[in-house]
Amino acid sequence: MIVYKFGGTSLADAERMRLAATLVRECAGPRVVVVSALAGVTDQLVELAARAGKGIGWEAEAARRTEALWVRHEEVAAGITGDAAGRAALMEKLDAAFSRLQGALEGVAEEGEAADRSGQVDRVIAIGEDLSGELMAVALVQEGLAAEVVDARSVVRTDERFGGAVPKDEETARLIREVLTPLLEQGRVPVLQGFVGATEDGITTTLGRGGSDFTAAIIGAALGATEVGIWTDVDGVLSAEPGHVSAARVLDELGYEEAVELAYFGAKVIHPAAAKHAAAGDVSLRVRNAQRPEAAGTLIRHDVRRAVGVAAVAYKPSVTLVKVRSRPMFMAYGFLARVFDVLARHRLPVDLVATSHTSTAFTLDRGEGLGAAEGELSEFAEVEVLPELATVSVVGHGLLRRPGITAGVFSALGQTPVQLISQASDVCLSFLVAQGDAAAVVRRLHAELIEAVSEDER
Ligand code: ADP
Ligand code: ASP
Ligand code: MG
Repeated sequence: MIVYKFGGTSLADAERMRLAATLVRECAGPRVVVVSALAGVTDQLVELAARAGKGIGWEAEAARRTEALWVRHEEVAAGITGDAAGRAALMEKLDAAFSRLQGALEGVAEEGEAADRSGQVDRVIAIGEDLSGELMAVALVQEGLAAEVVDARSVVRTDERFGGAVPKDEETARLIREVLTPLLEQGRVPVLQGFVGATEDGITTTLGRGGSDFTAAIIGAALGATEVGIWTDVDGVLSAEPGHVSAARVLDELGYEEAVELAYFGAKVIHPAAAKHAAAGDVSLRVRNAQRPEAAGTLIRHDVRRAVGVAAVAYKPSVTLVKVRSRPMFMAYGFLARVFDVLARHRLPVDLVATSHTSTAFTLDRGEGLGAAEGELSEFAEVEVLPELATVSVVGHGLLRRPGITAGVFSALGQTPVQLISQASDVCLSFLVAQGDAAAVVRRLHAELIEAVSEDER
């Protein structure tokens, strides 16, 4: 059993969608297809929701933008449907999705700022995947496959954290098996929207940006897939973001842990939760280029005995560093517990941590800072907040077993000021630099630790 997930760029227009459908046809045996919205559509829906949320006078601009979205999807529909009857049936489905979009936008306008928390915004942004799902199913039928849309809301059961909902593992796995297995046994090809789920009450949720990879991994794990193909616009996971480092090379394979760290610390080619979930379910992921299917891509699976060394470098911008220094009278052993208790109560996710006897410093996952937690920390400690930093990460295999790697990192850093260094495992070494320094540091690290080292040495 195979799961194929197509990202937005692989579905950008009719030609690409037809190509994606061909790839599904060529993959023999039972298969499930997961789709993202067409390239750029989620951004446009986010923008539409934001405008509607501001209220007053949003309708005219929304009508113009919605019309443009309609034309784009209609063009793809025209390019994939064979006969007039097929096209009419598809247009009816697209029409229904656009009516839901209109209703959801009105809901956002009514609720204003509360729409983020009520699920109205999720209703808007999920429409991108609803539309591409309908289109893809038709493209697959044109390829002679018995494809049908299965609404992801009926199988991906989540909590109510709108905009970044977390799937309930067991229930979701059960629903996926219950709904999809009979279809697969009948030789059907289910097509599901990535990124979209629903609460127990049927309210639409979304899994966070880039979340279609996550959906594919969840389905792959629930069905015991032999592989989850993540079809995208690059040849696989590269040793650095190709837009930043022209010498970046494709990695043949990567362990799960490396993939999770790399994804989490900036490589958006794969969603971190997808790699995590694939690891838990022991399903291999293969990142491949839908425009160049002949390329083998990158296989992500259990740590395969590769040579020790650096696989990739990445950076994540908009990181905030918080330095907390204990007041002298405070006992050292209670200090860390107290700091982390405050963070846990305020649900502030921490990425990197470093501590000394009297201080602890940590980075926050989101760029917005400490909020109310700052006041609570200040009751027993001195707090300093440094925004607009970037986490630079060196990811690889057995990093601690090759001491020269640390020397290489320091040499590449040169005179660049570093705020914090953290290495908790053999897989990832991270440090904080000013946001403006990050891209150059990544390039130097890549040159020093990857380009200058031969394949055998790494
Ligand atoms: P999709 O729409 O297929 O999900 P994404 O835009 O989410 O595609 O992810 C693919 C993009 O990720 C690439 O075009 C590339 O710019 C970026 N990227 C960042 N880091 C890496 C990396 N280490 N390897 C490959 N691609 C990367
Ligand atoms: N369409 C969603 C996004 O743009 C989900 C995805 O592409 O994975 O974030
Ligand atoms: Mg993506």
